[in-house]
Amino acid sequence: MAPSAQSTPDGTTIDNNCSSEKYADVNWDELGFSMTETDFMYVMKCSIGENFDEGSIIPYGNIQLSPCSTLVNYGQGLFEGLKAYRKEDGKIQLFRPDQNALRMKAGAERLCMPSPSIGKFVDAVKQTVLANKRWVPPMGKGSLYVRPLLMGMGAALGLGPSPEYMFLVFASPVGDYYNKGRKPMNLLVEDKHRRASPGGTGGIKTVANYSPVLSAQARAKAQGFSDVLFLDAAMGKYVEEVSACNIFAVKGDVISTPQITCGTILPGITRKSIIEIALALGYKVEERLVPVEELLDADEVFCTGTAVVVTPVGSVTHQGKRVEYKEQGETVCHKLYETLTGIQTGRIEDKMGWMVDVI
Ligand SMILES: *Cc1c(COP(=O)(O)O)cnc(C)c1O
Repeated sequence: MAPSAQSTPDGTTIDNNCSSEKYADVNWDELGFSMTETDFMYVMKCSIGENFDEGSIIPYGNIQLSPCSTLVNYGQGLFEGLKAYRKEDGKIQLFRPDQNALRMKAGAERLCMPSPSIGKFVDAVKQTVLANKRWVPPMGKGSLYVRPLLMGMGAALGLGPSPEYMFLVFASPVGDYYNKGRKPMNLLVEDKHRRASPGGTGGIKTVANYSPVLSAQARAKAQGFSDVLFLDAAMGKYVEEVSACNIFAVKGDVISTPQITCGTILPGITRKSIIEIALALGYKVEERLVPVEELLDADEVFCTGTAVVVTPVGSVTHQGKRVEYKEQGETVCHKLYETLTGIQTGRIEDKMGWMVDVI
């Protein structure tokens, strides 16, 4: 059970029963995917070779780190992203937070960082949502996006891991793209830059994952595309993923998606969940190499991720050839979207045991 009031180390009282302030002063209909500052964040620290301290909820604000920190100098940092949803009865739930905890743990091992236990991670996320519960949008208006971070805060000039780490969780309300008639994505296949290489760090959520895609994305956006689709680094032949989301192709009743191998594709939790839902709905799902030609020949294409949820792809352009896909009416994409969001908002029974109560 959630306590009715929590006290933070700096004496701030968080009143969980403040009925006069059930909701923050936000125009819920105008929410997009941009940062809206909320009241509190969660912080805990760790020295190398030791365990994380107790951790606490503190007011949202700037943090201090050494100019020589490994985060800033060498990219020793990880991020996660997950959402808290309000159900019809007002209760708040998280979608598979344990999966984010496991992914951060795997990333931390790769980047030589200590990571919080699965239990501590999930508890920190719950505390952050609870402290900011007036920022969780009403059902159907969006969700509270939760961003856990793991950062090397201490100085290391010679190459080596940081002596000190911080685990921080902040949150921001975000809108429900799809319900507001968000347009399908128009993707441009990137033929110059590669996002990740075999054996590299493309399979973990390192803070260094997104800056390398910005120039390709900017070029595509300048030509009117929504985003870029990256091909494999070795051959430039197989589809991997979009800048920040995974991709699926539908042909008949077969759904295919690039397989997770050698650390080139980010193992999305939405991707994994959509595969499980598709199998439960009776589709055939194939995780394998997907040649770009095959994608161009698909009936439907869609993308998955915490931010985009399940978004249809309207077109893919490759070497000047533009192919369009079905995205109106009864699509596989829409059916999967309805099932996933139904589970997340409590409209559909959670038979998978994915949802975790916050309050
Ligand atoms: C986070 C991320 C995804 C999506 O993962 P989800 O767990 O579904 O949000 C896909 N690709 C990249 C590169 C990512 O960073």
